[in-house]
Amino acid sequence: MDDTIFAEATARGKAGVAIIRVSGPKAWTAARVLAGDLPAPHRAALRSFRAEGELIDRGLLLLFPEGASFTGENVAEFHLHGSLAVTRALLDALGRIEGLRPAAPGEFTRRALLNGRLDLAQVEGLSDLIAAETEAQRKQALRVFSGELGRKVGAWREDLVEIAAHVEALIDFSDEEVPESLPETLIEKLDRIRGSLEAELRGSTAAERIREGFEVAIIGAPNVGKSSLLNHLIGREAAIVSDVPGTTRDVIEVRLEIGGLPVTLLDTAGLHEADDAIEQIGIERARERARAADLRLILTEHDGEIPEGVTPGPDDLIVVTKIDLMETAPAAGIGISSRTGAGIDALLSALEERLSAKAAGASLVMTQRQRHAIQEALRSIAAAQEFVERADEHPEMLAEHLRQAIEALEMLIGKVDVEHLLDDIFSRFCIGK
Ligand code: GDP
Repeated sequence: MDDTIFAEATARGKAGVAIIRVSGPKAWTAARVLAGDLPAPHRAALRSFRAEGELIDRGLLLLFPEGASFTGENVAEFHLHGSLAVTRALLDALGRIEGLRPAAPGEFTRRALLNGRLDLAQVEGLSDLIAAETEAQRKQALRVFSGELGRKVGAWREDLVEIAAHVEALIDFSDEEVPESLPETLIEKLDRIRGSLEAELRGSTAAERIREGFEVAIIGAPNVGKSSLLNHLIGREAAIVSDVPGTTRDVIEVRLEIGGLPVTLLDTAGLHEADDAIEQIGIERARERARAADLRLILTEHDGEIPEGVTPGPDDLIVVTKIDLMETAPAAGIGISSRTGAGIDALLSALEERLSAKAAGASLVMTQRQRHAIQEALRSIAAAQEFVERADEHPEMLAEHLRQAIEALEMLIGKVDVEHLLDDIFSRFCIGK
């Protein structure tokens, strides 16, 4: 990490302000070359940035010292006017300074990880925070970014290390007059760690949904008003609305935010038997997606008449459509009219309530990688527990399983050699992060 790297930290294009970040041993030298006299660290000061005597722009210069910066290295930030020409001129000027080179995608964050400023879960939290589109996503990503998962994992790891140390002692002193089994308190501790890991895993499905979106399928017979409802909800014509049955052949997906939660609405093809083979494929695919969705809005034009072959799940909502054509309010279900907008708020509230309930148990484990690591740790702990009561017989087996559990947790927060994981994670970052 002798190189000093630089990149635009803000998005490219016209903007009031653009920030160019420089990190590495020569970051402050570069700042001095372009700005002359340096401000005190952590204090922004107005400077003229010049290259070979020519003024590039006037803006703020902000320095962070080693150990107190995002990357852990000396960092300089140039806050400029956000035009393509200004940023290009400054980037060119930086590129001409010896020892400086453009940063690779995610390289700033990578340095933060290698310098111990962030753990691997925090890096993923940061990546999610940058990608967050809804309130729930922002809150979840922020919790992970703040290091909450890392702290939990660190505590479990420490407890496992304590247990493993006792087991090692059993191995080392097996010939001597020392107690031959594990103290009861440690056996209980192992049980508690297992319980916590299981709880974390249980909440990971909800966490993954918050990260990637809940799927809500709109199902019902042709012409019941599925596309009209979808269009009403998104306020624009995204789905085909037509009087001809079966026009919506495939599944149309629309992303929206409901109560802070990301939701993908699926408009499925009409659930009816079709003679046309292609249409039949579309219907099958739609049924499959609808079955796999987190919940379904089951649309019907008549009170309580549920489409054939559909069994409402506990979270599904029965929605009676076209109530503007009805004389009396529906006896059951949520009555709506996509034409007048009646009942839509009630439908959204009911949907929000159900999705919030599903999101409520969310843990901090939200990526497949994290989930996999927890599963690995759990498997090893379960294997260790098989030997716990007979620790004197096979202490080395017990020690080995504990070691694997510890390693799985270390993988989770990137404490062990995780070089191969890093490329995968950082490839999702863009340059300047
Ligand atoms: P889909 O086949 O289930 O997607 O149904 P569409 O959304 O294409 O609607 C079928 C027909 O019902 C269209 O002519 C719509 O204009 C009409 N329609 C949909 N919703 C309503 C509604 O709330 N009130 C009335 N009066 N007509 C509706």
